[in-house]
Amino acid sequence: MANTPTERQQLKTALTLIANKYADWMTGNQGLMALLGAREGDFDVMVKFMDEVPFISNYSLGQGAPPVGCQINGFFSKAIKPFEIYINRTRASPSTLIHELLHLLTHEIFNKNTSTRLNEGVTEYFTRKVQGAADAARYPDFLAPRQSYPTELGDVNATRNVIKTLVVPNVPAIRNQKMAIGRQRNPAFDPDPTGGVSTDDMMKRAYFKGEISMINLLKQFATI
Ligand SMILES: [Zn+2]
Repeated sequence: MANTPTERQQLKTALTLIANKYADWMTGNQGLMALLGAREGDFDVMVKFMDEVPFISNYSLGQGAPPVGCQINGFFSKAIKPFEIYINRTRASPSTLIHELLHLLTHEIFNKNTSTRLNEGVTEYFTRKVQGAADAARYPDFLAPRQSYPTELGDVNATRNVIKTLVVPNVPAIRNQKMAIGRQRNPAFDPDPTGGVSTDDMMKRAYFKGEISMINLLKQFATI
């Protein structure tokens, strides 16, 4: 069965919620541009909601083996041009759409340099950030509490806390490294003119901008 108008609208809403929060970090992101600019027909080519059986058989046929987990609710293929996102309509909730879209919007360098577990943890971290920033009265369907990837998310939060509260303040080599990196930050998406020591953007720089120094910092202290 083809995408229903409701499904199409839900996907667009999920995209809007992500863009509202992180568009500044996704300048030039081809996936974002393609989806935002897609006409109805093109949109349905890129996004395919499927029932359980076709979804599973499509997945098992290896039509775009996913680089990350998410094998039950949805996956995407960048190998197919233009890319395609497959959503299991019998299982996916509105917030799952946020998670799956984030996978599509992740920087290539992040995908290539992280384990599936770390990738899922960080993707879930941003999924919940997007939920947290959404207008609760307007988008109640998207704010249902999520149960996905609790272990991976817990590890990511622990890693992030260790880096922010222990590593950066107390390890001079990393503090200095971060200061050096900070001075190179792009003012277009970083309004901090001092380029000072800040870990506020560490996750976004790793995930959306693919900054290898930030990715390595995460990996260095990741427990997964
Ligand atoms: Zn995932």
